[in-house]
Amino acid sequence: MALVTLDNGQNILIDINIRASADGEDEDVHDVAQDLKDRLPRDDEDRPYVDAFLVSHPDADHVSGLRNHFHLGALDEYPDEEDKDRIVIREMWSSPIVFRRANSQHKLCDDAKAWATEARRRVNLFKEKGMDGTDSGDRILILGKDRDGKTDDIMDIVVLQDELITAANREEDGQFEARLLAPIYIDPDQEDAEELIDLLSKNNSSVILRFAIMADGTEDACRFLSGGDASVAIWDRLWQRHKDSNSDWLSYDVMETPHHCSWRTLSHDRWSEMGEDVKVSPDARNALSQCREGAHIVASSNPIKKEEPNPPHERAKREYVSITSADRFHCTEEFWEKNSRPIEFTISHQGPSFSHRVAAKKVAAAIGISAIPTVARGHGSRDGE
Ligand SMILES: [Zn+2]
Repeated sequence: MALVTLDNGQNILIDINIRASADGEDEDVHDVAQDLKDRLPRDDEDRPYVDAFLVSHPDADHVSGLRNHFHLGALDEYPDEEDKDRIVIREMWSSPIVFRRANSQHKLCDDAKAWATEARRRVNLFKEKGMDGTDSGDRILILGKDRDGKTDDIMDIVVLQDELITAANREEDGQFEARLLAPIYIDPDQEDAEELIDLLSKNNSSVILRFAIMADGTEDACRFLSGGDASVAIWDRLWQRHKDSNSDWLSYDVMETPHHCSWRTLSHDRWSEMGEDVKVSPDARNALSQCREGAHIVASSNPIKKEEPNPPHERAKREYVSITSADRFHCTEEFWEKNSRPIEFTISHQGPSFSHRVAAKKVAAAIGISAIPTVARGHGSRDGE
């Protein structure tokens, strides 16, 4: 999960993976939900809330814990006085295409189904009551157009590919902008059949956003690139699409490596077949290496070891280190093992800085990126190694 905290106190949450084993009973596993709740403000009714919550794509390792820790449904159905523990989602950020593509090939986990149900509730409410009739807790932004004109009658809440999001929960005050780089539009008639299957896969339908965040009144103080689990085919295309006039759209000060530092984000070659002979795809590498000076790259993954299955992959780490430097490449779980806390960047007008210490309680703009520290176990979706 990543939590972006803005100067005005708003919070944008990206993905969650809160396993039941992290819900307090097992003392060896960090209670990541409590950690999140401790960082969030509470509303007039003492309910913790996020201003916006994006699920990049509906895989279990990006949405687990939704039903246990978040309030779903109308706010007047929020649990009573005794139970003020569920996080209110003031505005959902959701891509319909991600779910549609997931349906054709993969089964959705129960948390992903719950997310889709809540998204539908909010879209229907918008159709019925419009902008003015949908308050905090009922709002949704749709990222990318749906197929067959399904989003044509709700374009006021749709963000198109290449467009900017400039407000969380409709609070437009210049705190950030986030460009929707993907899911990319795919024309089935223009693709060869094998490539089409890959392009329409769940991972490759991930939402990719590039944030520009204000700090201390300085616009664009930190650029943050968040790419879900998108793999090499998507990054190749983004580079082809933007290299001539908009390569700046891919630039970053902080990037979370797509797909947990997977090798197949950077290359079409299989490590299991070619080993050190594998080649990096120049287009994907270009897309992922538009760093501003002193940029940091974060792998949200298990500790990265040579013998571990992909992801994370040690060869991918080497590539990212060559893009930044060894001391600006970070792995969430390796960091946890040493420091017992998530990775955090605080943002000033000079840009982001890596927090070597626990930040003072009240920081201004910040990005926190966390994985649940626990014994290493296989990642849910291997990527064909
Ligand atoms: Zn994942």
